[in-house]
Amino acid sequence: MVKEKLAIVKHNIAQAAKKSGRRPEDITLVCVTKEATIEQARQAIACGITDIGENRVQDALEKYNRLVRSELQTIKWHFIGHLQTNKARKAVEIFDLIHSVDSFHLADAISKDAAKINKAQDILIQVNVSGEQSKFGVSPERTIALLKQIISLSHIRVLGLMTITPLVDNPEKLRPYFRKLKQLSEEVKIFFLEPRTENREPALSMGMSQDYQVAVEEGATMVRIGSAIFK
Ligand SMILES: *Cc1c(COP(=O)(O)O)cnc(C)c1O
Repeated sequence: MVKEKLAIVKHNIAQAAKKSGRRPEDITLVCVTKEATIEQARQAIACGITDIGENRVQDALEKYNRLVRSELQTIKWHFIGHLQTNKARKAVEIFDLIHSVDSFHLADAISKDAAKINKAQDILIQVNVSGEQSKFGVSPERTIALLKQIISLSHIRVLGLMTITPLVDNPEKLRPYFRKLKQLSEEVKIFFLEPRTENREPALSMGMSQDYQVAVEEGATMVRIGSAIFK
């Protein structure tokens, strides 16, 4: 089942990439395993998944500890949930990319914990483009000010932006938000890590099961997909 669903998702990503004049390989599929069993996660990895997303540090640790060495070697771990500063230490130990930094306070904690293990932690800035009150994320208006503060930190590398969109019945409703995040990333890309290899665009993490095709059409370089693969 996982195999078939993954094939569909990959096909859809490739189609959407073509529509926006990009190559399918420019889009990273982050397989969100927060509701998957360890067996399902294994199946996804066996199908070639190299990027795993988790939204809770403790759950990620559990998966991390249960996967065997040969599986772990290929994997990049993505933290996509809301991170509390007291969990930053553990997060820095496991995750290759933290998608959800939305305050200087959190970035500072991450940088300090990364310094302790001699790591430069890759992060994205989470932006609340929809303006929903319940969502975390910095407002688009405050993004530049936050980036200016964060780039002064010694053990942080900002690769791009991320957003979480509200649940909707029709993903077309989200197109303006994806467009807005893409536009914002163009405006602030001088703050992102340079030089980028192979003409890579700044990272733009947007799109979930409900809306990843639209997100890719609008320039997503990373999509975070769970239920379309595991449900
Ligand atoms: C759970 C989650 C996803 C995946 O959502 P699906 O609808 O299951 O694809 C993506 N991003 C974040 C931040 C999540 O928490």
